[in-house]
Amino acid sequence: MNHPLSNSQRRDAEALLHPYANAVALRANGVQMIERGEGIRVYDETGKSYIEGLSGLWCAGLGFHNAELVETAREQMAKLPYYHLFTGKSHETAVELAEKIKELAPGRIARVFYQSSGSEANETQIKMAWYYNNALGRREKKKIISRVKAYHGTTIVSASLTGLPYNHLDFDLPVERIRHTSTPHFWKGAEPGETEAEFTARIVRDFEEMILAEGPDTVAAFIAEPIMGAGGVIVPPEGYFSAMAEVARKYDILMISDEVICGFGRTGQWFGAQTLGYDATSYSMAKQLTGSYLPLSAVGINEDMAEVIEKHTGEIGTFGHGYTYGGHPVGCAVGIKTLEIYHRIDAPGRVRALAPRFAAHLDRLAGHPLVGEARHTGLVGALELAPGKSPKGFATPGKLGPRLAQELLERGVIVRPIVDSIAFCPPMVITEEEIDELFAPVEAALDATEAWAKAEGHL
Ligand code: PMP
Repeated sequence: MNHPLSNSQRRDAEALLHPYANAVALRANGVQMIERGEGIRVYDETGKSYIEGLSGLWCAGLGFHNAELVETAREQMAKLPYYHLFTGKSHETAVELAEKIKELAPGRIARVFYQSSGSEANETQIKMAWYYNNALGRREKKKIISRVKAYHGTTIVSASLTGLPYNHLDFDLPVERIRHTSTPHFWKGAEPGETEAEFTARIVRDFEEMILAEGPDTVAAFIAEPIMGAGGVIVPPEGYFSAMAEVARKYDILMISDEVICGFGRTGQWFGAQTLGYDATSYSMAKQLTGSYLPLSAVGINEDMAEVIEKHTGEIGTFGHGYTYGGHPVGCAVGIKTLEIYHRIDAPGRVRALAPRFAAHLDRLAGHPLVGEARHTGLVGALELAPGKSPKGFATPGKLGPRLAQELLERGVIVRPIVDSIAFCPPMVITEEEIDELFAPVEAALDATEAWAKAEGHL
């Protein structure tokens, strides 16, 4: 840190404004230039290798150099590099991928709508919820309930759904009609003496009270990630989702499952909703849909929504929504191949088989004096740092998490700091031995972080 910037770091600072970064700090410290990938590893411009403990952004499920996906993209590029789905045009790859998504997704998905990103998928979800209720003549039923610490993206509505401070601060968000209910995080949110069942009942009550306070006739949808990812890998308590789904049903509120991280095997089932035990009216998918070799997202809606929306397009003349790159043929071709590979390697079964090893490392590390809680499902997990293991956290939050991530980076592992948690979400092609390698430096990195925190007065 604070060494002179390399030529490429200097060029970067002159050319790019980076997402999710402090530009002033970046200018001082320099970015890390990643040059190439192989298996679960990436290499920086100096040739140093790193285990990608977060699959990039929870997305490169097949790792960083899959020759089949590269060849599939090349072939489709040569055949039909671009076409769209607007105004009655279509192409085979878009249809075939939608058929495959329909076969896989829970909740009897009837139609698939494409975009390029997770944010756009959730944007589509909310527009569809509004359009659907207008079609039914329920013009007041438009509010969307999300959750504190949710992550649903960064476009104006999806950033509004996101329940994290930096996504709102100085962006004049959230917009109207968006509400945030309680986070289902027992360790952090429980009242003294409260059991997990009592906590869950209270959180579900918060949701119902919010609906009643707003007026059920004004609430269109509830949106949730099965496991909250960017909010800190928060695994909800047993029974949470079935109770939330029941409340949503009671007030005729659509249930949107944001499967952008959890979809396609990550939690040990094809979809997170299956692992968490609920059915949604619609599903958002992205990231692992193409292994992230190309940008593509999909929204799957159930029969009822499809019928109402399609009929309404007939009444008013068109469905005035869509993106130039939605259903891009190269993205769809790579998506079809990605799903074929997931089937071949049995991605959900593979995750279930690897999960105990992954969990054992996190649970062992929970014994470290600096770790307050270990959380995990399938191949996604987190360690939350805490002073004296207290869920109240540090007096100055957000110092130790990034420090630990830095200590791990220096030891050849890339993870994501989320305030004072660090998240792990390795490619699903990881092996048991590689899981051991991923976790091998964590204890030493925790010790170093603890020593630093004591010296800095954080402990
Ligand atoms: N939903 C979830 C659950 C996500 O994790 C993300 C991205 N991390 C998004 C939506 C937004 O996706 P994108 O960055 O592709 O817009």
